[in-house]
Amino acid sequence: MKLKDFTTDQLKAKLLAKTDIQESGCWIWTGGILKNDGFGQLRLTSTCAILAHKLSYIAHKHPVPNGKYLIHTCNHRLCINPDHLRIADKKDFASGVIPRKPRSLTEDQAREIIRLRKTGMRLTHIAEQFNLPYYLVAAVMHGKTWRRLGK
Ligand SMILES: [Zn+2]
Repeated sequence: MKLKDFTTDQLKAKLLAKTDIQESGCWIWTGGILKNDGFGQLRLTSTCAILAHKLSYIAHKHPVPNGKYLIHTCNHRLCINPDHLRIADKKDFASGVIPRKPRSLTEDQAREIIRLRKTGMRLTHIAEQFNLPYYLVAAVMHGKTWRRLGK
């Protein structure tokens, strides 16, 4: 099975099953997250995996042309809302429109995030309080980073 063997409805359903729709309008991916760059990834089959936001754009809009990239207009790397994505090219990278690699959390920040979450604070509010991208906060809560602190 390859990407083209799935219908767009099947792809949308697969994405939605692992997405948390936020009040902000962001569709936050709750599935696998690539460690090195913080993007969500959906494993379609044992041999085929694709970036979640890219797949969402393809399923809801149209394919990304060769040589072009997708960027998040909302700055949440884990957001897969197709309306928060736009096509960009190398010029945009050069001009700094493309966000740089994600920052990482200190242990103190991770502890504080876990503590606040236990008080019932929403992840979006925690992210705002720390002025951090949502995906970094979500990564702690999903045990993707600082797993040992969550115990
Ligand atoms: Zn978004």
